[in-house]
Amino acid sequence: MEEKYISEIVANVIKSMGSDAVPIVKKTNQLGVFDSMTDALNAVNKAYLEFKNYTVEQREQMISKIREFTLNEAENLAKLGVSETGMGRVEDKIIKHQLVANKTPGTEDLKPSVWTGDNGMTLVEMAPYGVIGSITPSTNPSETVLCNSMGMIAGGNGVVFNPHPGAKETANYAVDLVNRAILEAGGPENLVVSVKNPTKESSDEMMNSPIVRMLVATGGPGVVHALLSSGKKAIGAGAGNPPVIVDDTADVEKAAKDIVNGASFDNNLPCIAEKECFVFRNVADRLISTMRSNGAYLITGSQIDKLRDVCLINKDGKYVINKKWVGKDAYKFLNAIGIEADKNVKLVICETDANHPFVQVEMMMPVLAIVRVDSIDEAIKLAVAAEHGCRHSAHIHSKNVDNLTRFARAVETTIFVKNAPSYAGIGAGGEGYTTFTIAGPTGEGLTAAHSFTRARRCVLVDGLHIV
Ligand code: NAD
Repeated sequence: MEEKYISEIVANVIKSMGSDAVPIVKKTNQLGVFDSMTDALNAVNKAYLEFKNYTVEQREQMISKIREFTLNEAENLAKLGVSETGMGRVEDKIIKHQLVANKTPGTEDLKPSVWTGDNGMTLVEMAPYGVIGSITPSTNPSETVLCNSMGMIAGGNGVVFNPHPGAKETANYAVDLVNRAILEAGGPENLVVSVKNPTKESSDEMMNSPIVRMLVATGGPGVVHALLSSGKKAIGAGAGNPPVIVDDTADVEKAAKDIVNGASFDNNLPCIAEKECFVFRNVADRLISTMRSNGAYLITGSQIDKLRDVCLINKDGKYVINKKWVGKDAYKFLNAIGIEADKNVKLVICETDANHPFVQVEMMMPVLAIVRVDSIDEAIKLAVAAEHGCRHSAHIHSKNVDNLTRFARAVETTIFVKNAPSYAGIGAGGEGYTTFTIAGPTGEGLTAAHSFTRARRCVLVDGLHIV
């Protein structure tokens, strides 16, 4: 190990001691991080050709090491993400990294299929694409790199990332971590690569390179559209605006706690988080008062207008998010409208009508609009409209099977959570594996190793049919 690198780590470790620990930022000699996209592409191509000779068991050993390193470095990754992007909460980001480490599927996700009969045996196996190009968001920068890497390596691929420029240090720290883990497990150098300074040009070079056989984008509508226009096989994981319905059969107290926990998790950055609430009028007061006793702060009247002008910008009559406020702590929004608030406030809540921009715009801020409704028909109609056809995520608290079923059928989302916080949908307190790339637009759903493979059929006629 180079001396410069050691002294950088030592300095950072010293800095990181103490309660307000600063994250360890390794800026030089990051494994797999290149100055140019051309160099990154050539390196990963070489690594992939080498990796083709590795066994599935060796892939699994590398993934186990990535899990181990991610758990060990979860706190540092979380701090780094918050300090670089200014978004989210360290304690929640730690949980997200633990989730990635513990619940991202590995090679067990690849399932062969077989037909046997009078004509012999036909086998289908899930094969790598080769080198996959992945574009990652600022909202889950290291989580997406780690989760994608594990799934893509499990599928037998190499990966080149073009991370969000505003989260490149965090993403590239994760690329370095993955490479350290791979090397320790006996894998090839540069199986996962990135660029030091990702730009639109590096992204275009990646998308157009013949080395890249498949593209994956996790982000807003712009990047998904760009990828789907590339002419290559692409997986697009796009935006959402998840509604949550609470009807009058729900356990209202539990619903209130679950919604506060889900909507405030990582300051509402997750694309699956509750972003507007439709509640039956006859239980609305109870829901709101229980939310208030569980960390939510209710604002009313002109305070709502003031907050709208903080969170959103009116562009030619259309509200768009004020990016400066994405993922900020709830109390800061209250301070901005002149309310002295406790730092422990998790979520700002307010009552609005269904057309309010707090309902219609995907804000990714710990601000939740609540709309009173008179029936399940009205709730479903308004919730489906607020989801804008993203078919991403939707949630409901109800014990009425008909209401649960009707909403699920109407909203057609990739994730639908009943009677739990939204994050149960990615395996946190709910069954099932996790992912940070939820592909609604292209239909893969919650991506995992199988999503990053291609089916290959092998046919043997008149043999291996043993009955
Ligand atoms: P973003 O769309 O601003 O950026 C995402 C990535 O796309 C970045 O790397 C960015 O540099 C790149 N990008 C943006 N426009 C591009 C273009 N035209 N061509 C090529 N690359 C482009 O998103 P963000 O603010 O970082 O993340 C938040 C958004 O991502 C939200 O809309 C959220 O719902 C969505 N998201 C979706 C998922 C999912 O799994 N479906 C997961 C996380 C975030």
